[in-house]
Amino acid sequence: MAGLVSFMGGDLAIDLGTANTLIYVKGQGIVINEPSIVARSLTTGKVIAVGNEAKDMLGKTHHDIETIRPLRDGVIADFEMADGMLNGFLNKLKMSKLSRPKMVICIPTGITEVEKRAVKDSAERRNAREVYLIEEPIAAAIGIGIDISQPVGSMIVDIGGGTTEIAVIALNGIVTKESIRIAGDEMDEAIIQYFKREHNLLIGERTAEQIKCTVGSAMPAEDVMISVKGRNMVAGIPKTIEISSSEIREALKDTVDLIVDAVKQSLERTPPELSSDLLDRGIILAGGGASLKGLDQRMRLETDLPVNVAEEPLLAIVRGTGLVLDDLERFKDVLY
Ligand code: ADP
Ligand code: MG
Repeated sequence: MAGLVSFMGGDLAIDLGTANTLIYVKGQGIVINEPSIVARSLTTGKVIAVGNEAKDMLGKTHHDIETIRPLRDGVIADFEMADGMLNGFLNKLKMSKLSRPKMVICIPTGITEVEKRAVKDSAERRNAREVYLIEEPIAAAIGIGIDISQPVGSMIVDIGGGTTEIAVIALNGIVTKESIRIAGDEMDEAIIQYFKREHNLLIGERTAEQIKCTVGSAMPAEDVMISVKGRNMVAGIPKTIEISSSEIREALKDTVDLIVDAVKQSLERTPPELSSDLLDRGIILAGGGASLKGLDQRMRLETDLPVNVAEEPLLAIVRGTGLVLDDLERFKDVLY
């Protein structure tokens, strides 16, 4: 019988993010942490790569390959590719055909009932024995270690790639929630536009993201100089320019302001009894965008509340989803 066990494959917790997909296998930990990208052939329509391999094709694709981020804006724009992506990631796990794992899948709060059904169907087609869905801010809260069954309110701000999800959680539920399509991608785009406008320089998405992660900030900080490679728009030739990090802060300003404003609006809509909880508990930032330098400081300044960044903010959601998988009975009220 011992042999059979290895055939079973573990139960799975999946964070299906707009930018990154993470998979936790019960008993093993996080085994997949890759971009939510699919590459498909334009002639056959078939998925040819997902995750890291697909990202490597981004922006360098030849005429027959197209790269897609099926959840880019926090909605499932392309069901077939979303299905293909989940399928591709599950294939990477090399699960046995005989295994019937339980799956808890974390989804953005903005997705519709039809989209939820599609995610469940997709998992069921992959032999899932039971599939549960959980909303991102709840998974984030659990991952951060908040006891969400308490009648005490907590505000989670999850800044991902395509969406920022703002939620006040108490008593196992979302009291107020808001999902805006302004997050990491929008910051990258703002940097691209800035270089076009101010320096006549065309830079790619990956370059913009790198600049954001290394020198981007939401608060004035010590200036550093960086050199940026791109293509001069006038001469059409490659060019390197030196700029100061304060220019990047300037480029990011509008996007950061929109996120801060959305948080302030959510605070205004929070019922008064929970608002007072927030004075003690403050706001917790999660998701990759929480790592933007100075963002916590900026939020503190604007809201007068304590603001903390989750430990390893990129992992908080899958950790929370994993904790739910490990104790489905305890968390049944927050699952779909
Ligand atoms: P999602 O849940 O939507 O898949 P993630 O939580 O995985 O998104 O976060 C991805 C986003 O976080 C990307 O836009 C990425 O550029 C951004 N990000 C990652 N690290 C940093 C950093 N150090 N500073 C700013 N943004 C970051
Ligand atoms: Mg996420």
